[in-house]
Amino acid sequence: MTDSFELFRLRWNSSLGFEGVAPMDLPPGRTVVEETPISSQLNSISIQTRCFRCYTKITENSRKMCEQCGVHYCSTFCCSEDSKIEHKLVCPFIADKSLNFTERNDILEFRTVAYHLRTASHNWEVLNSDNTYPSISRSLGERMVPSEAEIAKFNTSSLVRKHTHNVLDLFMLMSHKGTFTSTTASELSTRTNLYLQILSRDPNSPALFYSNASLLEECMDLITKLICNNLIGDDSDGKPFILALYPRISLLNHSCRPNCGIVLDGKGRAVMKTLTAVKEGEPLTFNYTPLTDSTPRRRERLQIWFDFECHCERCTEYDSLLHRLQLGHTEELRDSALLDEACVCRCGGAAARLSTNPPVYVCLACGLKTAGEGTVALIADLTKREEQAVQLARTDPVKAVQMMLKVLQDSKQSGEDHLRLHPFHSRQFDIRCILVSLLARCGQIEACTALFGDLITTFEFLSEHRPSLDVLYFLVRLLPTVRKMKDAPLKDSLLRLHSTLFDLFYSNVPLN
Ligand SMILES: [Zn+2]
Ligand SMILES: [Zn+2]
Ligand SMILES: [Zn+2]
Ligand SMILES: [Zn+2]
Repeated sequence: MTDSFELFRLRWNSSLGFEGVAPMDLPPGRTVVEETPISSQLNSISIQTRCFRCYTKITENSRKMCEQCGVHYCSTFCCSEDSKIEHKLVCPFIADKSLNFTERNDILEFRTVAYHLRTASHNWEVLNSDNTYPSISRSLGERMVPSEAEIAKFNTSSLVRKHTHNVLDLFMLMSHKGTFTSTTASELSTRTNLYLQILSRDPNSPALFYSNASLLEECMDLITKLICNNLIGDDSDGKPFILALYPRISLLNHSCRPNCGIVLDGKGRAVMKTLTAVKEGEPLTFNYTPLTDSTPRRRERLQIWFDFECHCERCTEYDSLLHRLQLGHTEELRDSALLDEACVCRCGGAAARLSTNPPVYVCLACGLKTAGEGTVALIADLTKREEQAVQLARTDPVKAVQMMLKVLQDSKQSGEDHLRLHPFHSRQFDIRCILVSLLARCGQIEACTALFGDLITTFEFLSEHRPSLDVLYFLVRLLPTVRKMKDAPLKDSLLRLHSTLFDLFYSNVPLN
């Protein structure tokens, strides 16, 4: 069975680890990887609406439900297939609501451990005739520096490779175990113990063979790899529905201005395509964190979640802009990326953030410097309430709209320091984007369209001054809403703006 089709070469980079590069000049829209996840899990919303086994959306008439734990299936077939081994084991734990098994990444972690034991035990039978477990654990969790011969082996096959997942795929991934706090590590150990306990209930489970401490350590290593490589997959409506591990796609690196993007086919299979022309030998990149966040926020997230400091083209550009700002070259920076976190000065000009700690803003028009403590507090408060509203929208979208309207209103007020968030400030922008989607969901199309009209002006300005993918990504997130809109001129102007990216993303060009 083929798990992935791949069109990239692998290279070793001493600071980044593996790097996937274009094997030849590639045009925009070319598929570079198509991959089925090695393990995956529906998120807590989709678990109500999709088949637990095959992920198809379920209709009321065909719905089957597990009586014990309440997960849904699309058919009797999926229900009985799933209950053969895996579901039988995991069902009591899903049923035990005090464990919150479906609310976190637990099913994904459990499935990855199960996969590992299955495949490792297969290798174990092949490799060890004396019934001892091959000590692959030593390399897990560490970055394995490959030999030239190994890299060459990866690259010898024809341009489009077919690949079947195997236990070595997990070896090749990076983990950041070293940065875990002792609390994280002990929680991880408790969870891993639980998974192994569940798996050993299967009389045929390889878990039974390894009743030693090294197995626990090995599986913990594996989960740390999972934590920094799992992806959130969106469905064709742009809503996140699964968490999944794609070991081959995970070999490709992050950029805040990526040349590739990923779409899912609705059942979890990922298709990665070039978004721009890529020259032979250039790294193929995608984004690990939302591109619509400001540079400091993206960097902070990458550091926390993936343990690296981003020095991509976009981040480097930001650094040099900030440097110019600190040198006092304010005039030329008016439309720059620094506006991602800009405020409006008393004079009406845009004030960019000059420093973070302590926060200081400087006006690009009049040069006035303002200490931004009140603004920082305001942003923290807005972020918190925005997250609460998004959470609430799962169960009560109407109430969430009311909450977001209040957040939007407050986001236009100034903090104690008299600075107001600039319309291009990523938080201000995000609030409006979320509200537009929520209004559309609640059928308040008129209010939605009005707010959208205001967003379009910002889009048009940004596209003109900074024609880059990060701006277009704002639009991609809103596409499902746009499709529902009745205002034709607005729809037209939006389609004009996003058509290139839309075509690249959603036209289905298979690799083979
Ligand atoms: Zn199914
Ligand atoms: Zn069940
Ligand atoms: Zn970056
Ligand atoms: Zn000013």
